[in-house]
Amino acid sequence: MTKILSHIGGKAVPPTTGQYIDKLDPRTSRKMAEVAAGSAADVNIAVEAAQAAHEAWRDMRPDRRGRILTDIARAVRGAAERLGPLERADTGKPGREMLGLMDLTSQYFEFYGGIANVDNGQIIDMGPEYHVYTRRDPFGVVGVILPWNAPLHQAARAIAPALATGNCVVAKPSEFTSSSLVEFARLAEECGLPAGVLNIVLGTGPEVGAAIGLHSGISKISFTGSVRAGQELGRIAADRLLPLTLELGGKSANIVFGDADLDAAAKGAAFGFTWNSGQWCAAGTRILVARELHDAFVAKLVEAVAALDIGAHDGATSGPITTEAQYRKILEYFDIARQNGAMAVIGGRASEGEGWFVPATVYIGVTNEMRIAREEIFGPVAVVIPFDGEADAIRIANSSDYGLAAGIWSQDIGRVHRVAGRLNAGRILVNEYSGGFVQTPCGGYKSSGYGREQGIEALAHYTQLKSVIVRL
Ligand code: NAD
Repeated sequence: MTKILSHIGGKAVPPTTGQYIDKLDPRTSRKMAEVAAGSAADVNIAVEAAQAAHEAWRDMRPDRRGRILTDIARAVRGAAERLGPLERADTGKPGREMLGLMDLTSQYFEFYGGIANVDNGQIIDMGPEYHVYTRRDPFGVVGVILPWNAPLHQAARAIAPALATGNCVVAKPSEFTSSSLVEFARLAEECGLPAGVLNIVLGTGPEVGAAIGLHSGISKISFTGSVRAGQELGRIAADRLLPLTLELGGKSANIVFGDADLDAAAKGAAFGFTWNSGQWCAAGTRILVARELHDAFVAKLVEAVAALDIGAHDGATSGPITTEAQYRKILEYFDIARQNGAMAVIGGRASEGEGWFVPATVYIGVTNEMRIAREEIFGPVAVVIPFDGEADAIRIANSSDYGLAAGIWSQDIGRVHRVAGRLNAGRILVNEYSGGFVQTPCGGYKSSGYGREQGIEALAHYTQLKSVIVRL
């Protein structure tokens, strides 16, 4: 049986515990590999390796650091056959989705490699007797804790800006999806990334994740995952005054106004909650529809959802749920929806056959107070809620603990900007529902987290700003 090991200081390192976690195949639920069950001792070895590598990496001329990152980007593009299958096996994602995610992974290294030296501070004019400027210093060793829904993409999003700004990284992938990031670290070193600059420690959240939070050698953490784990890490961080970027969950509203192009809105809304089998933090799972359009829209939405092809084969639009626990959680929400009195117009019951497949599901007869409208399900499940007028749509959209993303479908340009300004969410998508771009900042309002990944803004989150005041 394949054993997946941590990658520390440029080497494969077995866990100090000697223990391994069984990794099951989402397409068959059979054991496919064993993943190192690391501990605080492994985190300690990784932090020492990162600290040893830091000075040289920090002092490398930024454009040279950037060149290594763009070389990594090129290598990732050329290595789709090396990395993609590993991640495909771990997650069950079909080939088409995997190719898109590999391309995004590469784009992060392209983007941050290209801008490694563009935002290093500014000069503040205090007259001829002073020379005053700011500069951005790296934190040193940054911890990166990752979920299982888009493993390399999420990893690249945090690791590329952290490295571009001169930090070293200790990263922990989800114990359910560890193999592609370990192989990525090897590939990055083949591209010239010095050993110790990027270290991958495998294991569970309570063991390795918490140890990353507690380690005094780590000066900043980027966490992507659930609200619950984000809060646990936040408590540790509060004691240490450790800066965190938290990218958490969502229950994003996708609003279809009466003047929308209904066909485009139905297709876009279907994509918005089923991409990656709904295992997408920004998924548009609360579809708000102008009451007068409700029935016509639902008919088109059901048609668009019925045309999806969910399965393990290469051309499928999306695949299984990646973890068994998540699969069972989604099935529980089918029961909760029935108890709530909601009606499934498509899907709503477990798929037959092996593997953790869930049919794309749309509920109507839903109010925004029901649990299926308030809680993140993290599967291909959407609710449709009617609204009466613009103010009502904004009120319902904002009545949520979350605020990661929101969609607007409308041909009225005035309304688009008015509503975009009023929605409490970190990303507004108009007349398409997509993941945005690596160049656009991403992050949440309210319980969806704080700090921003992506875009030039991320550089500020991986650096500390210093003022230098020189009396001339
Ligand atoms: P999770 O919180 O269970 O795990 C995320 C990571 O945290 C894993 O590596 C896990 O091992 C680790 N972890 C768990 N408990 C921890 C603890 N106490 N201390 C430190 N680390 C700990 O989340 P998941 O189930 O892997 O991922 C799904 C969640 O991630 C969803 O809520 C989803 O919305 C969220 N997510 C958010 C974004 C975003 O950009 N906002 C992107 C993807 C996923």
